[in-house]
Amino acid sequence: MAASLVFRLHDRGPELVREVLLERGWEEYDEGEREEEDWNLYWRGSAFRTSEYHNLLPWQRLNHHPKTIGITRKDCLARNLRRMKAALGSSLYDFSPTVFILPNDYTRFLAEYNKLRLVRGPYWICKPVDLSRGRGIFIFEDIRDLAYDCSVIVQRYISNPLLISGYKFDLRIYVCVKSFHPLTVYIHQEGLVRFSTEKYNLSSLHNLYAHLTNTSINKFGPFYRTDKGKVGQGCKWTMSKFRHFLHSLDINELLLWQRISNIVTLTLLTIAPSVPSCPNCVELFGFDILIDAKFKPWLLEVNYSPALTLDCQADITVKKGLIGDLIDLMNYTAIDGLRERAYQKHRYKQPCFNTNHASHISIPVISQLKEPKLQRKRRALASNLTHNRSLHVSEVTNHDNTETEAEISGEADASSSIPDTHGSQRPVRIPVEENTALNGQHIPPLRVGDFIRTFPFNRATLKASQHKLDVTAIIQELHKLTGQLALGRLDKTKRRREEEVKKNTEGEDDFDSLLWGPKDPPLLIELIENRQKIKE
Ligand code: ADP
Repeated sequence: MAASLVFRLHDRGPELVREVLLERGWEEYDEGEREEEDWNLYWRGSAFRTSEYHNLLPWQRLNHHPKTIGITRKDCLARNLRRMKAALGSSLYDFSPTVFILPNDYTRFLAEYNKLRLVRGPYWICKPVDLSRGRGIFIFEDIRDLAYDCSVIVQRYISNPLLISGYKFDLRIYVCVKSFHPLTVYIHQEGLVRFSTEKYNLSSLHNLYAHLTNTSINKFGPFYRTDKGKVGQGCKWTMSKFRHFLHSLDINELLLWQRISNIVTLTLLTIAPSVPSCPNCVELFGFDILIDAKFKPWLLEVNYSPALTLDCQADITVKKGLIGDLIDLMNYTAIDGLRERAYQKHRYKQPCFNTNHASHISIPVISQLKEPKLQRKRRALASNLTHNRSLHVSEVTNHDNTETEAEISGEADASSSIPDTHGSQRPVRIPVEENTALNGQHIPPLRVGDFIRTFPFNRATLKASQHKLDVTAIIQELHKLTGQLALGRLDKTKRRREEEVKKNTEGEDDFDSLLWGPKDPPLLIELIENRQKIKE
């Protein structure tokens, strides 16, 4: 018999995580009733202590990797991107606006300010380094308006954003780093488009409702509930609605998605070598991307613990599915429910955390009990789960008539059930098995629910991420792929793609990857072949 899986929430939140897990038959940890180690997932909004990583037991997972502050604090991100620019060339890392950390960089900022002022008067945005939700941010053109009493970053203001009906917006992209060693990254197909609620206007820099896209600010704006042209009411769209909008424009949409995906990979590469290995951790980051009028995507910041509050229908549609898929990605198996017995029997005190990031500690209880014969079948089922999951997401109707997908509850198909001692059926997720086809190297599933694997995306990147991270090789591969996508538009052949997916789920040894972003993501191999045909 396997006991229920148990989750533990720090400070009793977020409510959405509780809701999703309870719906799946998990139980909430109660310290009065359970032993200290008797939980499977500990979720907290803030960072875990080092000792919590060190004491982690095989059946326990945490929702943060250690030491990711290098990208989630504005000044650390600025420093890391600067370092990468210096090492690898500024053209590769040109997706982040020029930035200065004040007060330290004040002289350098002054020089740049004066230099640019001679050509054309650029705008700047000043942000406290460790605040979020738009707090303390202001935009200025004249250095005399720059005033700060804490550590801040001053960044070039992207003054030509792409507008929809005259309103500025940015994209909230949800990124799950399943592992840093080897680097394994998934990006969720759904995300949010966050609008400002007053029309964009460079002659009113002080109007935060026109220049900032934070929901925490705009939901209090006087025009929040007003109809705002194509934007509609409120201040959010789902990514599906944005995709629909993109289709109406004559652009190389695939290239845009790939460039955003590149930003995610290149940003993670800045810290990947220095994050200690902790196989029992996952992390959900919120990447904020602004698209300018020339369709160039810019990285604004990376959020640690992106907000999981449900302010509107778009939030419900996106975030509920997101958390469900994240849980699936963690790949809990029935055996995780045996934590107590395993604990008593083996007295596991071997930590799952390792500061020597190159080596990996396996999870003995889980790996010993895997049934290799079932691997293919499970992988195929996991792939089915993918489709059912995205259908489940759209059970919620979008208030602004977004194109919605078919409405089916995919839960029953997506789960297997194992009877407990009382004979009742408890949902247990089907394990998402990894393909071990390539010389014994694990290939993570190409898709879990609406999470698309974006790294590694081919054999070369898999190899480059296995031991010591080979950043140069990875960058070469990114260049190659982006170049291929830049060649022109895709002639999509749906049947062909389906055949490829089928082949993949049947256990072929090929390394397939999907292109994150577009509706019905195509296989990369198909894109590359099409590009080659266009060239010939
Ligand atoms: P916070 O963590 O406080 O949300 P962000 O860096 O995300 O800080 O900035 C808040 C908002 O300000 C963004 O969502 C975006 O609308 C706007 N913004 C931030 N930086 C820039 C920039 N360089 N150019 C244009 N707009 C920006």
